[in-house]
Amino acid sequence: MPTESAFYLAGLFLLLAAAGWATGRFGERGDEDKPPPLNVDYLKGLNFLLNEQTDQALEHFLRMVRVDDKTIETHFALGNLFRRRGEIDRAIRIHQNIIARPDLAAEQRDQALYSLAKDYLAAGLLDRAEKLFVRLAQGSRFQVQALESLGGIYEQERDWSKAIDAGQRLEVLSGRSLALQIAHYHCELAEAAVANNDYASARQFVKKAQAGRPRTMRGALTRAHIARDMDDNKTALKLYHRIIDENTYLIAEALPEIVAIYVRENATAELESALLAMLKKSPEMNALVAYTAIVNDLGGIGVIDDCVEQYMLNEPTLGEFVDMQSVTTGDKKSNVSALAKVRRALSKLASATPRYQCQECGFSSQRLLWQCPSCRNWETQRPASRVQFDTVLQHSITNR
Ligand SMILES: [Zn+2]
Repeated sequence: MPTESAFYLAGLFLLLAAAGWATGRFGERGDEDKPPPLNVDYLKGLNFLLNEQTDQALEHFLRMVRVDDKTIETHFALGNLFRRRGEIDRAIRIHQNIIARPDLAAEQRDQALYSLAKDYLAAGLLDRAEKLFVRLAQGSRFQVQALESLGGIYEQERDWSKAIDAGQRLEVLSGRSLALQIAHYHCELAEAAVANNDYASARQFVKKAQAGRPRTMRGALTRAHIARDMDDNKTALKLYHRIIDENTYLIAEALPEIVAIYVRENATAELESALLAMLKKSPEMNALVAYTAIVNDLGGIGVIDDCVEQYMLNEPTLGEFVDMQSVTTGDKKSNVSALAKVRRALSKLASATPRYQCQECGFSSQRLLWQCPSCRNWETQRPASRVQFDTVLQHSITNR
């Protein structure tokens, strides 16, 4: 089957044949021998296409139609068409052919370099794309786009220092604030430093992340983890509680840490009163506490167990699987064991389904990802607050 781009090339040959009819020649062939009759070139190109030899047809087209002011837009259009169709080698061939033209105007050269850089990016040749974007970012009308692309490349390569630099230059040039993602870049550096036990550098990076007063709580979470690792439990607890107060959704990250610290310190009574105070202030947190407890298997703490019980009794979908009425009408001992059984089942279900979902594109994962791998947005994931029975059911049906 001839591809869409083959049809496009055929159309170009046809147009050129018509133009050649009027002028008697294809493009400007300079001092070369007499131009061949127009329909020979046209038919030759078309013949390649009919034999599905798109590469030969393309080479034939490039030889026939030299890059000049009249034809350059056609070359760009064809190159971009090939890239869009995923025929990257052909797009690269066309854009390199444009750049090879010695008397190209500076602006056209920049456009060709920019197109070629996008080809390399699409082909996953990040090094080559980076080189061209760096050149364009130094001064061309593609400066802003080049810096945006560089930011994307550095994110993929996890080269956070370069990403910060590109981001800051982009802020100046575009007038847009990139405070959120730049804060995340600093946090990435902080987490890498923590992984190397370099807590002094980690603290510096967190400070930088928080200096721009961005909307991310990741800096506070990293600071809390550092305090936890340094056995500074008092600071860690203060920070984890603040994270829950300010960004409720991060409870799934902070609550297990809080519980672990209190349990380690044999201070479950203090934990209970801290949690009671939190729930009194924000009763809507009940479901989040319950869900976090189910997912992370946090049990044996009265306040948390009460939240889980309430959650199980109020979860409408659960009623379709278990007769919750009968679970709660027996004697206390059998109730407790029945509820524990349901809770274990829920915990199992929850561990088989994604806990976080991107609010922009719907991508879901088990772990909190600060940058969505699908839409590349920062901090768009939110935790589930209910066990997703639908997903579990679909999963078990497709695996049957
Ligand atoms: Zn996303």
